[in-house]
Amino acid sequence: MVPDEMDAWVVERPGPIEDGPLRLVRLPVPSPGPGEVLVEVEVCAVCRTDLHLAEGDLPPRRPRTVPGHEAVGRVIAHGPGVNGGPEVGARVGVAWLRTTCGTCRYCRRGAENLCPASTYTGWDADGGYARYLVAPADYVYPLPEDQDPRTLAPLLCAGIIGYRALLRAELPEGGRLGIYGFGASAHLTAQVAIAQGATVHVLTRSKEAQRLALELGAASAAGAYDSPPEPLDSAILFAPVGDLVPVCLEALDRGGTLAIAGIHLTDVPRLDYQRHLFQERQVRSVTANTRADGRGFLEFAARHPLHVETVAYPFEEADRALADLAADRVNGVAVLVMS
Ligand SMILES: [Zn+2]
Ligand SMILES: [Zn+2]
Repeated sequence: MVPDEMDAWVVERPGPIEDGPLRLVRLPVPSPGPGEVLVEVEVCAVCRTDLHLAEGDLPPRRPRTVPGHEAVGRVIAHGPGVNGGPEVGARVGVAWLRTTCGTCRYCRRGAENLCPASTYTGWDADGGYARYLVAPADYVYPLPEDQDPRTLAPLLCAGIIGYRALLRAELPEGGRLGIYGFGASAHLTAQVAIAQGATVHVLTRSKEAQRLALELGAASAAGAYDSPPEPLDSAILFAPVGDLVPVCLEALDRGGTLAIAGIHLTDVPRLDYQRHLFQERQVRSVTANTRADGRGFLEFAARHPLHVETVAYPFEEADRALADLAADRVNGVAVLVMS
């Protein structure tokens, strides 16, 4: 049933996307090692991190790696020693966090997102821009059968990271949340917060994104540097713009929390203690996610199906999808669909 070889995209030579760093090649179908499952990919979403890997902003950790860490597919074989993992035939998601050590001080206290020895799908090991991939059974997520894999795939990175940011923002029940920037992750997070009973204010420069925010149930939408119509209990900064940190902090009510969701942020300007921090306002970063975050979010999304804006590309056109992402031509999340 499983062929010997498959089509896969690899990062041949990291560099500007217009120089074509990705190449479609034939690779042997991987065989699952101890504790791993073999997954036949249905859909893989395209994340901005894939672009950073292709362009070399994130230095490659091994040559010719297959990118992709938002893969939805079916388990078709178990490696040795898989106990209690997903059954053969089950639909699963393979996400960014691939392994953690399980023994360091962070892992032991439930903060495996901070594990210094963690490894990542599509960076340390081949990812989902391929017909098949292998992943540790303990790190894949069960996914519902009755939802479109195209809308499930973006949940695996954009959704999970946004969910962790929401947890880090410590929004009180029925609270007022400001969301700064409104891309893939933010539009999912806003829906989670609204479904949980929050009042959400979206602050972003794009008029189109403002319109989408209102359609999805945001109470207001305005420009990134505007003031929200009421003080905020929590804010999440999704835009990688350090200049917005004092803007967010000034919008917070007493005791409010700002969570910064991005991996990268431009320089944060000088803060004024009275205007920005006093009255127990706090700033926190968000680093990757734990499996508990992933499970928590995906269980929530299975009960409250989220509206996901996707743009489908045939698997064979992954390079075009990344070029479109680089040029901001994708209105939603690009997903690669296997033919
Ligand atoms: Zn990602
Ligand atoms: Zn660890």
